[in-house]
Amino acid sequence: MILIVAEHAGGKLGKATLEMVTAAREAGREGPITLLVLGQDVAAVATEAAAVADQVLVGDLPALAQYNPEVWAAAVAQIAREGEANTVLIGGSRSGREYAPRVAVKLDAPYLEDATKLSVNGNALQAQRYTYLARVTETVEAEGPVIVVTVKPGSFAPAAPASAAGEQYDIELDLPTPRTEITGKSVEKTSRVALTEADVIVTGGRGVGSPENFAQYVEGLADNIGAGVGATRAVVDAGWRPYAEQVGQTGKTVQPKAYIALGVSGAVQHLSGMGKSKNIIAINKDAEAPIFKVADYGIVGDVNQIVPALIAASKK
Ligand SMILES: Cc1cc2nc3c(=O)[nH]c(=O)nc-3n(C[C@H](O)[C@H](O)[C@H](O)COP(=O)(O)OP(=O)(O)OC[C@H]3O[C@@H](n4cnc5c(N)ncnc54)[C@H](O)[C@@H]3O)c2cc1C
Repeated sequence: MILIVAEHAGGKLGKATLEMVTAAREAGREGPITLLVLGQDVAAVATEAAAVADQVLVGDLPALAQYNPEVWAAAVAQIAREGEANTVLIGGSRSGREYAPRVAVKLDAPYLEDATKLSVNGNALQAQRYTYLARVTETVEAEGPVIVVTVKPGSFAPAAPASAAGEQYDIELDLPTPRTEITGKSVEKTSRVALTEADVIVTGGRGVGSPENFAQYVEGLADNIGAGVGATRAVVDAGWRPYAEQVGQTGKTVQPKAYIALGVSGAVQHLSGMGKSKNIIAINKDAEAPIFKVADYGIVGDVNQIVPALIAASKK
């Protein structure tokens, strides 16, 4: 069985889960694609998960109401062992990268981190990942009865529903009492769609000129068309925008249907985070800017002139 740990929030299945299902389908390892849903009151998530998986295992317990690395690692390792999983896929989120190595240790399994592509090579599982500032793509290979992999968010297209919904099963878990707990959490409130979930992203680079222009052009356009907001590292380093919006090698990897880059040069470290977007639309005053090498549609011009016209058009 291929075990995928579902990511979900607010009672909804995360896009990262659908991406991992695609990764599992592409990897072609043997066995049913099995989604493991851990949490409390997760019936709706499990139903959503059933649409894309061969089967869904549901651990719905008060002890799982809040993520904890010790608890998650124990639960995932137990289910992987009981189901004789040959592959365990975990989202490469901050928490996923935290507990996945613990799962690997518990299973005495090899661990492949940050996979952007998966395939089989005989008995081995091959993964691609970026290294050296994303200038190098390296291929790593692991063999063993079970292999633990984290999947870099945004690296695979979200899976379409399977032809038939998978069966759902409740599972019994033998959970440890964790030694650490999260004692507080403050969630930034925003009505804007999250970057990794967005179908459309508007990203601003240094070319937009100032934090005020960023608010007017990038946020203005994004809000009119229901898009997420992204930023380049130059903009984040300058303190114009929070790190959470950074797209690129040291920021988020995204793969929206449309990526609108305003005043973004298209440095290799930025491209490694958004280069797989379905449609890339770039506005840059320099016709030689590298962003045009990957853009599907490009406008050579000044954002100060073009973006206000786009915002006006998008209001109609
Ligand atoms: C280890 C490492 C990791 C990195 N990680 C990341 C990362 O995760 N994400 C990331 O983005 N970068 C990353 N970088 C930085 C990256 O190399 C670039 O410096 C950065 O992406 C450039 O940002 P920019 O395109 O906004 O700015 P610039 O390179 O300054 O480009 C601005 C662009 O705007 C255009 N422009 C200027 N004025 C206008 C105008 N009025 N109208 C239209 N266009 C205009 C210019 O022609 C230019 O192309 C990393 C670098 C290193 C070394």
